Amino acid sequence: MFVSEALGLSRHASKTLEEKNILREAFIPHPFFSDIIEALRFERKFGEIEEGTVVAKTINGVRIVRGFPKIRRALTLYPSIRKHFEREVAVEEKMNGYNVRIARMGKNLYAFTRRGYICPYTTERARNLIGMDFFRDFPDHVLCCEAVGEESPFVPKRIYGIEGLDFFVFDIRKIGTNEPVSVDRKIQMCEEYGLNHVPLLGIYGTREAHEAVREHIRKLGRDGREGVVLKDPEMKIEPLKYTTSETNAGDLRYAFRYFNDYGKDFMFSRIIREGFQSFEFEESQEEFRERCLRLGRAILEPMIESIKEVRSGEWVSEKIRLKFHSIEVMELFLRHLRKMGIDYRVKSVSKENGGVVLHFERIMRSTTDKIRSHLEGQPW
Ligand code: ATP
Ligand code: MG
Repeated sequence: MFVSEALGLSRHASKTLEEKNILREAFIPHPFFSDIIEALRFERKFGEIEEGTVVAKTINGVRIVRGFPKIRRALTLYPSIRKHFEREVAVEEKMNGYNVRIARMGKNLYAFTRRGYICPYTTERARNLIGMDFFRDFPDHVLCCEAVGEESPFVPKRIYGIEGLDFFVFDIRKIGTNEPVSVDRKIQMCEEYGLNHVPLLGIYGTREAHEAVREHIRKLGRDGREGVVLKDPEMKIEPLKYTTSETNAGDLRYAFRYFNDYGKDFMFSRIIREGFQSFEFEESQEEFRERCLRLGRAILEPMIESIKEVRSGEWVSEKIRLKFHSIEVMELFLRHLRKMGIDYRVKSVSKENGGVVLHFERIMRSTTDKIRSHLEGQPW
């Protein structure tokens, strides 16, 4: 099997990999993906190999794109920062979109989403926006980016003032090993090749960082931004993330709107974060009241909206708009959604200056069914 060979697995490990049924197809064969002969993704973590890792047989040989490592969350700023980092900590904005790894395979760029799917929509955008210059000089590097904007199939967001979709580099890593370049070097490389990167908010000594971060978080919260990722400037220590109260509430709003399609852990952990933040931020009575109201509203309002929707005979769904350059890629994307197990309904497809605009609804079947059954008097 080419995967075991590429990863240098022992015969034993290779057998376990097969038995555990961890490998899945990473893409739908299509002329748009002409450089790739076969590609498999890791559905789960396997030893050192991260979930979302892709091993691809390409026209130029086998390539391994490692999965993006999980970033753990700090629940307190003090003393987490002191305890976790060494001398200094780099504070970057955490942008809210979806995680995309962009790598070169054969003659073209390919965009991998978190779980290791090669996404047709994101790949088309990456080919148009990123260009080959960087990869001509660094063919063995991967750009780890946040894809943000209103035209996002997964996390549509207005806050960045991006109508379409754009990529912001947050890490640059070696393709087979996932070894990152330092924070400075990343910014330098991005500037050299005209790539957007996430804002660096500052580099602080670990002793005073918690106060600076608290101020950044307050400001980011007011601006509707997501939070920060704290990094060792040399990228030798794993990063930590920390989010604003507004984001925690926003996540809850989303999760409770689709409450039966979302994991309970997702909701629970966000409520716990609010407790620790409220404790640490030494709030005034007024600030505390605001937090309580924000949290309560984030839970109840979206749930009631969903219940009303089902009562009036509709499905609970998320409405999404995407623009494609080619209709073939749009069709391929719809097949891709089906492959990912996403339930959707196309509302309209229209031509618009040189592109195709797709409106579709992502149907939240489980939440819809659950609400319907309760409205019909079924006990929980
Ligand atoms: P994770 O397993 O990485 O924690 P998650 O799906 O729970 O994943 P998030 O809570 O959104 O993700 O936090 C991590 C993600 O934040 C990264 O995977 C990346 O997509 C995104 N991100 C945004 N900005 C940055 C940044 N400056 N540095 C690192 N990651 C960033
Ligand atoms: Mg995210």
